[in-house]
Amino acid sequence: MKIKINLDNTSSDFAKEVEKRSGIKVKECYQCGKCTAGCPVAYEMDYMPNQIIRLVQIGARREALTSRTIWLCASCITCSTRCPKEVKIAELMDVLREMALEENLANPLEKNITAFHESFLNSVKKHGRISEVWMLNEYKMKRPKTALQDLAVAPHMIAKGKLSFLPHDIKGKDAIARIFKKCKPK
Ligand code: SF4
Ligand code: SF4
Repeated sequence: MKIKINLDNTSSDFAKEVEKRSGIKVKECYQCGKCTAGCPVAYEMDYMPNQIIRLVQIGARREALTSRTIWLCASCITCSTRCPKEVKIAELMDVLREMALEENLANPLEKNITAFHESFLNSVKKHGRISEVWMLNEYKMKRPKTALQDLAVAPHMIAKGKLSFLPHDIKGKDAIARIFKKCKPK
């Protein structure tokens, strides 16, 4: 796929910032495409995983942070394990997602995914783990149109003890909250 990039919007600081936040050396990528060839959701993405790396390399901040790809990535880590240069692409996607949220650039077409992402992380921050009912409650409040989605499976999950109505906090959840605090950009 050909990509059109407005070079007026590029900045070399972007690659440095992403490298600093992720600890990943994006310069190492030589565009072999092995990551993209193994990605199970590449067919839905607007930029292929290797193209996202290229966008970061050339400092195309807006294109990378507004892409749908960073939200469609399923964090399966296939790309990271296939990369001959050990570029941890899945982890890089995580950093780009956080930057997109901080800069209010998350792609509007992926509002359901961004709302789910935030609800998931809020549950971990609060309870130290996922509390399904509380997480889904927050998600469905943010995205009311999804309120009836998946309702049919709820009785089966409750019957099998897979859904608990009370949150179960882990021991040491304060340590998890401290990790979140430390990860916040200064
Ligand atoms: S597999 Fe690694 S080196 Fe190859 S394109 Fe992907 S990130 Fe770059
Ligand atoms: S981690 Fe994301 S980008 Fe990498 S292979 Fe899986 S879905 Fe694709």
